[in-house]
Amino acid sequence: MGRYLEASCRLCRREGMKLMLKGTRCETGKCAIEKRQRSQAPGQHGWRKGRGSNYAVRLREKQKMKRYYGLMDTQFMRTYELANKGKGDTGKRLLEFLERRLDNVVYKLNFAPSRKAARLLISHGHICLNGRRVDIPSTQVKIGDKITLKNSEKTRKKVKAQLESNPNFAVQGWLQLDVSKPMATVVALPTRDDVQLAVEEQLVVEFCSR
Ligand code: SF4
Repeated sequence: MGRYLEASCRLCRREGMKLMLKGTRCETGKCAIEKRQRSQAPGQHGWRKGRGSNYAVRLREKQKMKRYYGLMDTQFMRTYELANKGKGDTGKRLLEFLERRLDNVVYKLNFAPSRKAARLLISHGHICLNGRRVDIPSTQVKIGDKITLKNSEKTRKKVKAQLESNPNFAVQGWLQLDVSKPMATVVALPTRDDVQLAVEEQLVVEFCSR
């Protein structure tokens, strides 16, 4: 599987918004978006002013969504195809599939400081789904699923330290977290309101369905 190996902050600067790719650093004054003017994109010449063509606007929305969830193009298009097969609003279904990814859930439970760290936690076998170890970050969770940690003191300590580092972290309503174990249950499916990214999903669908 391909991986993005360049500087994460470049992606935020390209999209002109915080994509929260670096965990706690994103909340500090060290964040590249906080330090520079929002309009300053990476590269020698930065942004060309203006809204851009219809294609460019749709491309940016797609890139924003893809980068926020930390996917490469092939994975993103696979998720889009899945969303496009079902009934209903494709954009909302696409967001729902992305939100239900196990790496996103682990991040939203504050078991890891970023989606990238959550993906590592999963691929290194530290996370169990319904009692079984899962090492595929793209696994889709469903209602009733229980997310626990591997039976290891080291893992438990690591996750507890992360949970304690941010005691005010608010877990979204579709997830239920028992911090003492720690263990979580998926009690509902995520809705559009649970998506914290400012994106126009309809433009993403228009881009992907060209
Ligand atoms: Fe983006 Fe975080 Fe870097 Fe800020 S610190 S630019 S939010 S990755």
